[in-house]
Amino acid sequence: MKFRIPSEHQDGHIAMKIILIGGILVFIFLFFSALTMKRALKPDETQRVTVGKHQTPFDGTRAFQDLERIVAFGPRPSGSEALEKTRDFIVRQLEAAGLSVRRFPFEAATPIGKVNMVNLVGIIKGTSPDIILIGNHYETKLFTDFTFVGANDGGSTTAWMLEMARAIGPTRQGRTIWLCFFDGEEAFKTWSREDSLYGSRHLVETLKKSGELSSVKTMINVDMIGDAYLGIHRDPDAPKWLHSIIWDTAERMGYGKHFSRRGMTIEDDHIPFREAGIPTIELIDFMYGGSVIDHQRTWHTPNDTLDKVSAASLQAVGDVIYNALFDIDAYLDTIK
Ligand SMILES: [Zn+2]
Repeated sequence: MKFRIPSEHQDGHIAMKIILIGGILVFIFLFFSALTMKRALKPDETQRVTVGKHQTPFDGTRAFQDLERIVAFGPRPSGSEALEKTRDFIVRQLEAAGLSVRRFPFEAATPIGKVNMVNLVGIIKGTSPDIILIGNHYETKLFTDFTFVGANDGGSTTAWMLEMARAIGPTRQGRTIWLCFFDGEEAFKTWSREDSLYGSRHLVETLKKSGELSSVKTMINVDMIGDAYLGIHRDPDAPKWLHSIIWDTAERMGYGKHFSRRGMTIEDDHIPFREAGIPTIELIDFMYGGSVIDHQRTWHTPNDTLDKVSAASLQAVGDVIYNALFDIDAYLDTIK
């Protein structure tokens, strides 16, 4: 995933503008450095998730055990043997939970050539055929100069989705749930519209063609939610109702401090769905490790390992989404 940086126009008096903008940027930088110095240097221990009594059938410990098995497959870039093993594991777990699984294989044109990819969808059959889609990416970013196991980035959500399948089970009252495991979220070279989000872009196009996209009523995307120092960012572009349901649920369940008021615009697998007109929200903790410095040390580095993530964080997000789904159903009933 990536920050969205607004484009700038440059014309006339360029030198003057550069000096002026440069000055302003230096000022802003110094101002915010002073403000966030503490946050930049040291993780805030209160951001470590603690879990009391079980509030839902979602079991963070069981999710963490799956995460250990997924990480043990090693680096799992698109097209790799390790990702094929991960896929087998995902399908086995979903089927063991009683879900039916759909495979959407495709060939992606990437900057490193053609790569075979597969989106997987686990289906929880609802009493309504309308769909609430929960998405994540299950591959890890390709790095050739170091070993990247993506315990948080790619791993955590994959395990979390499998536990969500078990927690809800094969059927439910309300809308049908699609648990989508996207391949090819990460860029192979430099993030761009063409080099990123291969799986989610492909699924949106496929569902458009099959006529199924109109059944998808909302989409929740999860990414990097395993961080032991959990702070999910507000998605400034999500519809208010969807945001409120999730944040209110978190507050009610005692996880309020892990669902931040700080907004961050991130490009991720929800974007193709949002561009297709579907209400979407991105749930991401893009301050991995709880401080700016920790984030830099861990995100897309060899340090994205199991010791940086926790069962409690998986539990917190699991509890919140498990319960929020009831309110999402109730809200969608009112706008039918
Ligand atoms: Zn990533």
